[in-house]
Amino acid sequence: MKKVIITGVTGQDGSLMADYLLKNTDYEIYGAIRRLSVDNHKNILHLKKEPRFTLVNLDLNDAHSIRDVIMDVDPDFFINFGAQSFVGRSWNYPIQTWITDADAVLHILESIRRFCPDCRFYNAGSSEEFGNVICTPQNESHPLRPQSPYGAAKCAARHIVRVYRESYNLYAIQGWLFNHEGPRRGQDFVTRKITSNIARIKHSIESGIAFEPLELGNISTKRDWTDATDMMEGIWLMLNAETPKNYVLSSGQLHSIREFLHETLKCSNIPFSIEGEDENEKYLYKNKTPIMVVNPEFYRPAEVHKLCGDYSLAKKDLGWEPKVKFQDLVKKMYDNDYELLKSAI
Ligand code: GDP
Repeated sequence: MKKVIITGVTGQDGSLMADYLLKNTDYEIYGAIRRLSVDNHKNILHLKKEPRFTLVNLDLNDAHSIRDVIMDVDPDFFINFGAQSFVGRSWNYPIQTWITDADAVLHILESIRRFCPDCRFYNAGSSEEFGNVICTPQNESHPLRPQSPYGAAKCAARHIVRVYRESYNLYAIQGWLFNHEGPRRGQDFVTRKITSNIARIKHSIESGIAFEPLELGNISTKRDWTDATDMMEGIWLMLNAETPKNYVLSSGQLHSIREFLHETLKCSNIPFSIEGEDENEKYLYKNKTPIMVVNPEFYRPAEVHKLCGDYSLAKKDLGWEPKVKFQDLVKKMYDNDYELLKSAI
């Protein structure tokens, strides 16, 4: 039976990929976890009794641990979703971001080259690599112009993946995934921050209790959001193609953070009015109680204002297309957060 190692398995993408592979293949899945003093297994609780799912200890910051796991498992596929994945935090932890998102990729490639050169390797790439974009939408030929320590580390990883692919004939790739979201998205990311906070405010309104507003940074920036479950299929198709090639996966649609907020408020049925503009913009309930205020603390030292992907090559070569629509994605995330709060009461 074929074996797949997935790093970052406790996160959104890792856990969704494990679900996808358990459903669509008969492969054995090795979910790589890093020891933490707090439990972060909520996304994989449902997998613990699954006979084809095994947890292995692997720390991406320790080359020996990467090598040991690769030698023990002898995988057919290695999917690296483990990362410091939050762009905003990469200015606070640039070194940790670099070690985890760039250096670790080289350690994985070295172990694959030495111990299992037939293993197919996927590294999580990002639209943040395009950064300060020169045209819209961006496709595979857009230059790399990162704007954050996170984006720069992902670009470094992309180069070393290509160098290993070309030097050693490895099946090693790094797709460009645009923002992808869902109920398992971490609460630091703007989409989940919005849906979880609006669900919290809705509960407070229903219970007749006072609430603190949601605080956001720059709500004029625009992103291309895809359902994360749709992305897993695209990555698996990329990994199983005849030739190793990197593809853009995206929805091809651009929405501002403001639009995401509006759509969430629509799902919640909270009536709102808007006051002020940009940094002074406020969303009010009953024309007086703030639901959302802009807090410049959440602005970034450098911003990527607009990211929109052109996935036509993936469509042509792999037959991949996103299925879930923007409105349905927002609703799914809001409903999940609302239900989570309801079941906690
Ligand atoms: P990213 O595209 O990987 O950085 O994903 P995020 O969800 O973290 O951020 C998307 C966009 O939302 C960026 O342009 C942020 O500057 C913007 N944004 C505005 N307010 C916030 C906020 O409070 N938190 C986060 N994470 N992003 C925010």
